[in-house]
Order: sequence, then structure tokens, then C-alpha cells
Amino acid sequence: MLALWWSLLWPLFMAALLALVLWPLAGAVRALLFFSAFVLIILLRHMASIAALARWLRSPATMEVPEGTGVWDAIFDALYQNGRAQSGGQSNLNTALARFQKAAEAMPDGIVMLNDEGQIEWCNPMAESQFGISNHQDHLQRISYLVRQLPFIEHLAARNYAEPLVMKSARNANMTLSVQLVPFGDRQKMLISRDITHLEQVETMRRDFIANVSHELRTPLTVVGGFLESFADAEQIDMALSRRHFQLMQDQTQRMRGLIEDLLTLSRLESTHERMAETPVSMTEMAQTLLREAMSLSAGRHILRLEMGTDKGLTGSERDLHSALINLVSNAIRYTPDQGEVVLRWEMRGDEAWFCVQDSGLGIEPQHINRLTERFYRVDRGRSRETGGTGLGLSIVKHVLTRHQGWLHIQSEPGKGSLFCACFPAGRIIDDPDELPRS
Ligand code: ADP
Repeated sequence: MLALWWSLLWPLFMAALLALVLWPLAGAVRALLFFSAFVLIILLRHMASIAALARWLRSPATMEVPEGTGVWDAIFDALYQNGRAQSGGQSNLNTALARFQKAAEAMPDGIVMLNDEGQIEWCNPMAESQFGISNHQDHLQRISYLVRQLPFIEHLAARNYAEPLVMKSARNANMTLSVQLVPFGDRQKMLISRDITHLEQVETMRRDFIANVSHELRTPLTVVGGFLESFADAEQIDMALSRRHFQLMQDQTQRMRGLIEDLLTLSRLESTHERMAETPVSMTEMAQTLLREAMSLSAGRHILRLEMGTDKGLTGSERDLHSALINLVSNAIRYTPDQGEVVLRWEMRGDEAWFCVQDSGLGIEPQHINRLTERFYRVDRGRSRETGGTGLGLSIVKHVLTRHQGWLHIQSEPGKGSLFCACFPAGRIIDDPDELPRS
């Protein structure tokens, strides 16, 4: 501060000193005139600097800070430093804002910033696609004019945002959104929307699954319960009739056991944390085992044939592969009338290996084919149950094949028969028979 005063006053002191020196030499009038002229020059220079400052203050962003001398040099320098510090702060602020906006744009959730009037101030691309709005075109439009679903408008107006709203997307009716409104600042709101379509599907599947399992268990339990009740009430036991009832109860318990075994297999296959035990599997032996089991299931009612096109083996889980293939074999026998033919075939198709089960049975209408691997999906419910089906067999097949990077090929014609093939990629095939286990 002292320096400022000094730089303001020293020219005046200098002028006064010179005037005092001049006084005895040139007289008082001349000394006074000299002093006045000096002061006038100082004043004019100050006025020029003030004018330059006024000009600069009118548009400080576009103009350079003016240059000055003396005290003005210090003032203009301070202004220059100040301006630099401010523009540095502004650019930091802009960088932080841009970074925040980039992060919000990359969010997997939709975000809409709403002002106190419910108008859109900003939204990210995910919100644009979920609500069919545009960040540029719909800026400051009321969101309730653009998202016209009644539950959404009511939720917005209710002002109780503790629970999220579950609604269908305005863009895609198959998409389900969970919408959460978060009030902040001065009656502003942030809308966060999340695509919960997958979660909802999983929840529906879980509900359907429980309903299906309960339904499957209820029928055999009702039968067994009914017989037990009639035994309890009977005064005399008719042994011949009882034997027949025992047989029926045994069938029903067998059905429940089958269902529970399939459920356990499915749950084991679905648990991703359990690593599959992989070993070399001899498909020649597997095919022989399957043929023996087919004979036992058929009990002489069908013509059975095994065709071995190759002796290559597979790398995989022997237990899971057997579960899958015996399901295909058992289906072929169960859905093929007596005297029909069932052929098991192990062969190479290009660089893939296929295990096919062909039957001359009932066949399947084309509209069912894509749904056969869904849990509990059956074309003919009655026939499936009569023959001990659980509705889970092909679901197990699909899981096992997926775990072996394979797939299920189905071809069928109603009345003529079906072809079910388990297909394995080249990476699973063992070419050298010496690498396979021998019995
Ligand atoms: P299920 O225990 O009922 O046989 P699956 O999952 O094994 O259950 O099969 C699903 C449905 O596919 C069966 O209910 C049946 O309608 C049909 N299906 C499966 N294999 C055959 C086949 N070889 N011939 C005719 N229909 C079949």
C-alpha cells in the first residue's frame, strides 16, 4: 500500500523539488508555471490511463489488458494476473463439467435433469432411447408432455418418490423400466431410469417354475394321498385290489422321484460355479450302453439299431453326456408306437461329430420345435405323463450341450417321425482312439 502511495506521489515531489530549485534561478512565477505544467502532464497521463481502463472494462474478455506507466503499470499488471487466474479457474470448471457430462452420458442408466417446472434441462443418450426424447430438440419441454403414460404423469404429480415406478418404455413396449425420481436443490429433480426387462423375465420364469413344479408334484401326491386315505378308512383289506393300488402308488412315487432327479440335474447344470469334470469319453462304449438301455426301455416293442459311422471320442463330462443322450433315446422310445423303429447313430458331419436318434414315431408340428427345450414344455401333456415324462428332458439336453459348446439339431414331421441330434464342435472331438479309455 505504501509503495502505491509512493509511486503516486513521487512525481509530485519531484515537480515540487525542481520548482524549488528553479525559484531562486528563474523567479517565483516561472517556478510556479513549471510546477503547474508538470502537474498538468501527470494529470493528463492519469486521465489517459483511466480512459484505457474504462475501454478495457467494457469488454475484458476480448481485449488485452492495456499497458501503463508508474502506478498504472502496477494496477494493469494486477488486473492481468487476476484475469489469468480467473480464466484458469473457468477452464478448470469447464473441464470438470465436460468430464461429469461424459460420465453421465456413459451411464448404463437413463438420466434426465428436470427443473422446478418439470422441464427437461439435460438428458443422457440412454434416457433419449428409453423415453424417445431428445436432449437438443426437447430442451425445456415439459417431460409430462413427451412421456404421455398415465402412471408416469401421476407419479410425477404425486411428489412422493420413495418407491420407484415400474413402467413400459415409450419407445419399446417390450422394455420394462424402473423410474426413480430424486428431488434436489430448489425443487429440481433428477430422473434415473433403469432397464429391468431381464430382471422381470427372470422373476416371471421363477414364478412359472415354482407353479409348474408344484403342479407336477400335486397330481401324484393327490393319487397317493387318496389311496392312503381309502386304506385308512377300509374295514377289510382286499388284497388283490390293494396290490393294484400299491402298484399305482409306486408309479406315482417313481414319477415324483424322476421329477426331483431331473430338477437336481438341472440345478447342478445351471450352477455356473461348479466346474465340469472333463475326461476323454469313448463314444463307442457310450453308444453300446445307450443301446442296452434302449432295449430295456423298449422291452421288445421296437426295432432298435445302432450305426457307428466313426470311432472318435469326445472330451467332456461322461455323466452329463449320458444324461443328455439317454433323454433323447428315452424320448424316441416313448413317443414311438409299438413296432416303430429307433436308430442311434454316431457320425462325423464335416469337422463336427453328431450323435443322432431317429425314430419313426409321432413327430412334432413345426410350431412347437423352437420351444421344446423350455422347461416343462410338452406337445402332448397326457402322453408325456403317461410315459413317465417330466417335461425337463430336453431342457437338460440343451444345458449339457451348451456346456460342451455343442447344440441340438431337431427335424421332425408329424406322423412320420423325428430326428434329434446332439452336435459337438471340432474342439471337443478326440481323433486318436488310443487316447480313449478302454473297458
Ligand atoms: P418329456 O419328459 O415330456 O418327454 P422333454 O423335455 O424330454 O419332456 O420333451 C419335451 C416334449 O417334446 C415332449 O413332451 C414331447 O411332446 C416332445 N418330444 C420330445 N422328443 C420327442 C420325440 N422323439 N417324438 C415326438 N415328440 C417328442
